[in-house]
Amino acid sequence: MEKSFSTNNNNTLSPKEKGVLAILKKTGALLNGHFLLTSGIHSDGYIQCARILQYPSYAREVIELIARKVKDLDMEIIVGPALGGIIAAYELGRQLNKRAMFAERKNGVMQLRRGFVVKPGEKVLITEDVVTAGTSTGEVKKLVEERGAVVIGVACIVDRRSPGYSLDIPMYSALKMSINTYLPEECPLCKIGEPLENPGSRFI
Ligand SMILES: [Zn+2]
Repeated sequence: MEKSFSTNNNNTLSPKEKGVLAILKKTGALLNGHFLLTSGIHSDGYIQCARILQYPSYAREVIELIARKVKDLDMEIIVGPALGGIIAAYELGRQLNKRAMFAERKNGVMQLRRGFVVKPGEKVLITEDVVTAGTSTGEVKKLVEERGAVVIGVACIVDRRSPGYSLDIPMYSALKMSINTYLPEECPLCKIGEPLENPGSRFI
C-alpha cells in the first residue's frame, strides 16, 4: 500500500528548499512506513540522507545551502554524530575549509575517539543529516561542552524538529519539513500491527 508522505509545509518552501526536496525525492531518501527514531518515538516517515549523500554532486549541492548560512559564523570545528553526521560534517568542513570530525557511541555513550581532540574555548558547529528530537545533537553538545568548548549552533540537511526537541541553540538547515511522530503507546501504526523498522544507527 502506497502511503502519502507528510510534507505538510510544502507550500511554504522557498525555491531552494524545493530544490532540496526534489533531490530527496529523486534519490529515494523519503521513506514511508513505520519507523523507530533515535529518541524512541515512532514516525510514519523517515529521511534516509545516506541516499542523497551517496552522490557527491547532490551532497555538494545540499550542503552548499547550509554553508551559505553559516560561512560567517565564528567557529573552529564541525562535529557530526555518527553515522548520519559523518558525511554532512565532512562536506561542510570541506566547503568552509574547517576541521571536521565525528562523535560516535560506544556502549551507548557518545564519545570522541580516533584521536579527535576538542580544546577548551574552541567554537563548535554541530552538523547532522536530520534533526528530529535532537537526541544525538544533545549528546554531542554535552560531549564538547564537557571539554570546555562552546557550541555555536547546529547545522542540518533536514530540520524536522519534533515536539520533543528542547535544545536552545541556533539551527541552520537546507530544508524544513514535518513528518508525523507518535509516542509508542499512542502510535496508530502499532495499533494496526504495522511492523516497526529501525533504520538508524543508534546501536551500532
Ligand atoms: Zn508505532
